[in-house]
Amino acid sequence: MITASTALVHHVCSVPFSRSIRFCSFTVTCSGKVPLSSSSVTRASHVDPRVLLGMSESELQQLAVDLGQQNYRGKQLHHLLYQRKVKEIQDFSQLPLAFRNDLEGAGWRVGRSPTYRTVTAADGTVKLLLKLQDNRLIETVGIPVGDEKGSMRLTACVSSQVGCPLRCSFCATGKGGYSRNLQRHEIVEQVLAIEETFQHRVTNVVFMGMGEPMLNLKAVLEAHRCLNKDVQIGQRMITISTVGVPNTVKRLAAYKLQSTLAFSLHAPTQKLRETIVPSAKSYPLDAIMRDCKDYFLETSRRVSFEYALLAGVNDKLEHALELAELLHKWGRGYHVNLIPFNPIEGSDYQRPHKKAVQAFAAALESRKINVSIRQTRGMDASAACGQLRNEFQKSPLLTNSDSEKPQPDVQVAC
Ligand code: SF4
Repeated sequence: MITASTALVHHVCSVPFSRSIRFCSFTVTCSGKVPLSSSSVTRASHVDPRVLLGMSESELQQLAVDLGQQNYRGKQLHHLLYQRKVKEIQDFSQLPLAFRNDLEGAGWRVGRSPTYRTVTAADGTVKLLLKLQDNRLIETVGIPVGDEKGSMRLTACVSSQVGCPLRCSFCATGKGGYSRNLQRHEIVEQVLAIEETFQHRVTNVVFMGMGEPMLNLKAVLEAHRCLNKDVQIGQRMITISTVGVPNTVKRLAAYKLQSTLAFSLHAPTQKLRETIVPSAKSYPLDAIMRDCKDYFLETSRRVSFEYALLAGVNDKLEHALELAELLHKWGRGYHVNLIPFNPIEGSDYQRPHKKAVQAFAAALESRKINVSIRQTRGMDASAACGQLRNEFQKSPLLTNSDSEKPQPDVQVAC
């Protein structure tokens, strides 16, 4: 099964930093102790309320009325934003000039960002770097998959933060540091940018790009609402991924979304998991499994456990057997997604041999565990999570990149 790109070997990282990094309201230390508080990170994001993208139809209608227009002008705004995907207020040519001027005069903007760089892999996967209003760069990936009937499934893998504070040991994003949370429109616009690039509707969205979605849950849920109701992507076509932040899976389950939770497990034991995912120290495996079970019971949606296979680290037969035992202990409603590691520069980890991957999958299947192996997509497009962004913006903490100009698009041949 092809799901997201291994670009999105989201939640598989852990390169130890030799220094402490302080950002906004909290500190990450090289000890592997990451203060996991979604609220502390949420406070770190700046809020820009006068952005149209992300607003619902009723909110847009209210805005129109507030600016002295009739209700239906709000509906027109909705159509222009989400159907026509117009990027500038002055290009809303169906609207009276006076209304456009009033919107701009009151400080409103659409909220679309320019594409700074486009990289196309030989398999058709496209990675975009978007340059945000504060000059920070984020990655988003479009993954096209054709079916036998000739139609195309287009998956957008979206980022939820600029960088990531969690530093999973195998992840390029984690190596690049953390800057801030994304706002809801900065998540939604990634999907629209992928649609524009492919001239095709996005059919699936996975929150598996840069960042830990559960550390930005408010904006992620707002973007989820917008993608579902305004951009018209079915809830079942949306997957929210996490490496695990205490108390957030319960919060997510309470919304009873019909979306898949993809939990990045990567190890069958607490001890091994802590060596791969530093933040695991704050969230014991038993608590994770209990929360995932509750998620299934609350939503009836099967939880997908993501498992990045790292050669010689967590890909042995004994690990598969331990994983099967763990899942059986916690009942039904699970699926395991195996992700052969996508090597990144500077990482000590290796990609496992194909035979090891198949043996791991076979061991799980023999114990009646649902399993699939994620196909590698876009490996030639700096595909590992955060890799492309890191090439162009070494420190996401810096903002003085005004001089950076859009870069030429590139095609990457295998
Ligand atoms: S983006 Fe963050 S949570 Fe996801 S793998 Fe990378 S470091 Fe871990």
